[in-house]
Amino acid sequence: PRLISPKAAREEDAIDRAIRPKRLDDYIGQKAMREQLAIFIQAARGRGEALDHVLIFGPPGLGKTTLANIVANEMGVSLRQTSGPVLEKAGDVAALLTNLEPRDILFIDEIHRLSAVVEETLYPAMEDYQIDIMIGEGPAARSIKLDIPPFTLVGATTRAGLLTSPLRDRFGIVHRLEFYTHDELALIVGRSARILGMDMSPEGAFEIARRSRGTPRIANRLLRRVRDFAEVRADGKVTAEVADQALDMLKVDKHGFDELDRRLLNTLIDKFEGGPVGLDNIAAAIGEERGTIEDVLEPYLIQQGFIMRTPRGRVATRSAYLHLGLKPPKTPPT
Ligand code: ADP
Repeated sequence: PRLISPKAAREEDAIDRAIRPKRLDDYIGQKAMREQLAIFIQAARGRGEALDHVLIFGPPGLGKTTLANIVANEMGVSLRQTSGPVLEKAGDVAALLTNLEPRDILFIDEIHRLSAVVEETLYPAMEDYQIDIMIGEGPAARSIKLDIPPFTLVGATTRAGLLTSPLRDRFGIVHRLEFYTHDELALIVGRSARILGMDMSPEGAFEIARRSRGTPRIANRLLRRVRDFAEVRADGKVTAEVADQALDMLKVDKHGFDELDRRLLNTLIDKFEGGPVGLDNIAAAIGEERGTIEDVLEPYLIQQGFIMRTPRGRVATRSAYLHLGLKPPKTPPT
């Protein structure tokens, strides 16, 4: 059985589309990056050139796809979206590239998952706006060079370290998205609430913000659930108290940790005496994939100082014990 009916899914898409910022000025936070991009975009537009290739990395939900679309809007060009695992053959990417209009954006999500042949097709495309295509087979096969329109590759990945260095070196603009502050998230929540026509106090927005794991996608998702709760239980008005009750009901705690976060911390402390313990052991113990832990769970727990990454494995910090209501060990594990 499907969890979400098609109708609910369409509704979500419509809301998502409505609240996704479309211009650089609506993109909240990430100030340094925004300022730089604004200059690079204006300069490229002034010269009538394609923007240099852009690599954006950061955990899921921090605004990589949004930013790619904004860059296209600000450049006044179209965006074609694809993802690393979808591009299997050199021909797949060649077909996309030859169909672009000059200065268009090609957005490749999960760019660290490109196959080697596709990556190699991209190198001359990125450098010289050319691709090498093989014609024929066997001894008669030969390669011809094909010109493609000047374009901008925008690549997104959860971790820059997953990229091969020849690929990484071909991006002129590289940005790492940071987790958002509570104030920034409160602005995002407030903006979304306005678009949705909700009645929400600034304190209500802040309560959602500080429980959103520094992540706009989570903030917007929690906002929708709080909206449901408020409509049914509080005449639609979202105060701090209503937000708090709704989020407690959703089992999102004061730090924005959900059950999976708490299970990770509990396992680290109970089963592995606070660590150090390797990622694979943690993954097996909580029944999650290693990649999910590394990309989704861990970055925020580390940023908040609940887990430390050491050469011998992950270690629970004093804050982790205290958060779970446990007594920290006298000598911290090393
Ligand atoms: P990613 O591609 O990094 O997984 P998205 O770009 O899909 O993340 O962002 C998830 C949602 O969060 C978007 O739909 C958008 O509404 C919101 N969002 C992301 N970044 C921002 C931002 N800087 N300001 C406002 N909203 C944002």
